[in-house]
Amino acid sequence: MKTALVTGGAGFIGSHLCDYLTDKGLKVICMDNLITGNKGNINHLMKNKHFEFVKHDVTEFIDVREKLDYILHFASPASPIDYQKIPIPTLKVGSLGTHNALGLALKKKAVFLLASTSEIYGDPLVNPQPESYWGNVNPVGVRGCYDEAKRFAEAITMAYHRIHKVNTKIARIFNTYGPRMRANDGRVVPTFINQALKNEPLTVFGDGRQTRSFCYVSDLVEGIYKLLVSGINEPVNLGNPDEMRVIDFAEKIIKLTDSKSKIVFKELPVDDPRVRRPDITKAIKELNWKPKASLETGLRKTIGWFKQK
Ligand code: UDP
Repeated sequence: MKTALVTGGAGFIGSHLCDYLTDKGLKVICMDNLITGNKGNINHLMKNKHFEFVKHDVTEFIDVREKLDYILHFASPASPIDYQKIPIPTLKVGSLGTHNALGLALKKKAVFLLASTSEIYGDPLVNPQPESYWGNVNPVGVRGCYDEAKRFAEAITMAYHRIHKVNTKIARIFNTYGPRMRANDGRVVPTFINQALKNEPLTVFGDGRQTRSFCYVSDLVEGIYKLLVSGINEPVNLGNPDEMRVIDFAEKIIKLTDSKSKIVFKELPVDDPRVRRPDITKAIKELNWKPKASLETGLRKTIGWFKQK
């Protein structure tokens, strides 16, 4: 039986990964310090004898006794509101946390997968963004704590691959949504859905002409797994290339929730990327992966989940 360590395993994407990997017959050790993660996301797995939860902050030395075949390093705040509130833990988990997780991968001879992000492209001057684009990041801006931590994480991951020959993978994850997002995490999908369900105004930032491309979580997790077991060591974009304006997204949410909500405009946050859309040519060609869920299908599931809550 193969064993995987998922850091940040009680978070939104991390917990879906724990589900996916246990379903695949792996033993899963889920590690989380529960700063932005939530035990409610993994409660249903606690009775599985091949699942274990360890509360630990990966910026401290990671002590795992078992053999490990895979390390999936997903620990990090990921919502702009979260990481701007706790920029220092965000910088530490991307740097020290990634160093510790890589050291563990070296010791255990485990495959290492880094959860990187489209934020490494910053406010991109190229759209869509291919992996070959180096990005346009403001290092000293309010998003710098996350963007630069992840850029450092990519750099140290490649260094461990080149110097220590660790079998590393880098997933550049674009906007992902689905059940288990925190209603108040500030990101656009849970925010708009919860505003619409309460018939409160939807808060569109700026003029709403900035774009994002949203990937349903089950698609993303499948892409992560395909990358994990692939022979690729260079970064791969994972996301849905279906790009839309935030204003159109707000209208879609109002329609899908049958809401009476209006739209109000608020100030655009500093350094908010104006466009974002993954070029997934590489994932299609080399992983034979592309997202399957339409935005409407994914949103209906997500709305249903928030309603139930
Ligand atoms: N956004 C918005 N209203 C909100 C929350 C977000 O208009 O209440 C916008 C935000 O300015 C950005 C986009 O939605 O352009 C996506 O924001 P999110 O926080 O989800 O993540 P990002 O993609 O910026 O990391």
